[in-house]
Amino acid sequence: MARAYNFSAGPATLPEPVLRQAQAEMLDWNGVGASIVELSHRGAEFMDVAAQAEADLRRLLSVPDDYAVLFLAGGATTQQALLALNFAAPGQVADYVVTGHWGRTAIRQVEPYVRVHVAADGGPGGFRDIPPRDTWSLSADAAYVHITANETIHGVEFRDTPEVGAAPLFADFSSSIASEPVDVSRYGLIYAGAQKNLGPVGISVVIVRRELLQREGQPRADIFTYASHAARDSMLNTPPTWNWYLLGLTVKWMLDEGGVEEFARRNAAKAGLVYGAIDASGGFYRNEVAPAVRSRMNIPFFLSDETLTARFVAESKAAGLLALKGHKAVGGLRASLYNAMPVAGAQALVDFMHDFQQRHG
Ligand code: PMP
Repeated sequence: MARAYNFSAGPATLPEPVLRQAQAEMLDWNGVGASIVELSHRGAEFMDVAAQAEADLRRLLSVPDDYAVLFLAGGATTQQALLALNFAAPGQVADYVVTGHWGRTAIRQVEPYVRVHVAADGGPGGFRDIPPRDTWSLSADAAYVHITANETIHGVEFRDTPEVGAAPLFADFSSSIASEPVDVSRYGLIYAGAQKNLGPVGISVVIVRRELLQREGQPRADIFTYASHAARDSMLNTPPTWNWYLLGLTVKWMLDEGGVEEFARRNAAKAGLVYGAIDASGGFYRNEVAPAVRSRMNIPFFLSDETLTARFVAESKAAGLLALKGHKAVGGLRASLYNAMPVAGAQALVDFMHDFQQRHG
């Protein structure tokens, strides 16, 4: 069976060697006579899997020792709510820089708990650019400053880490974690749902400067407390062991392939191919994002003749290129080019785009 190229925004394509290893180990993990998903999270076998995944992720992302790495059930949206509960006093101000749909979602999760200050908002410009840093109005006493490193729907990506002064910088890296080298020490906290670059949906990674875990935050259950998860190595309750195991395999694969430097090269090549095809199409295809902040991971694009969009989706699917339909919030088309998408996949998309233009242009 030939596997298609899957351009889904998430859950997204996973490396074939990871899927094959998981398949081979499904009934009998490492000779123990049971699947890893059938074993206790407190047993030696899974403890090893968990510790190895953390060690590998720390290596992959060059996480400094004074940062905790948490593996938590649930998605990025859950973390968005927990940020306020853990790090802001009731009613304290928190600054949000909104560069797309997910920045808005992040605000919705914390509105019951903090005074949200929108320090900058790309909304009036249709989220086609990131407001320049010197236009941001940061609060003097913010609990933290929140950004979305890569906006999965609008296709807008920070290409530099912004300087935000005294308040710690918190960043949603759900759709770009491990896509290039990042200086973790510039951030107070980085979080990501796993289902794009790290593995399967159902688990999130939180990387947080340990000293921040001493903040009181606000009244909350222990299960919502990052410090408690950190103290118990993310085993405060039964963790999503299967997801953690698959995440570990995916991280190991990224290390074996050459790490984030290598993925930065591949991702630049893939994005270069697709933006190149869009920009060279004479307007047949269109991407509206300012070139300096175009996402390397998610490329939303439009046909000049929008009546052809459904045909593009159907014909590309028939050609083995899956999930190119745009998100309903913006319409059109979208190609997601996460780490597991090979350069050959981007080339296949570009070849199809040329062919489609020749037939319909
Ligand atoms: N942030 C970003 C940047 C995302 O892309 C997504 C999901 N696509 C989310 C947050 C929400 O993640 P989840 O569905 O895992 O809660």
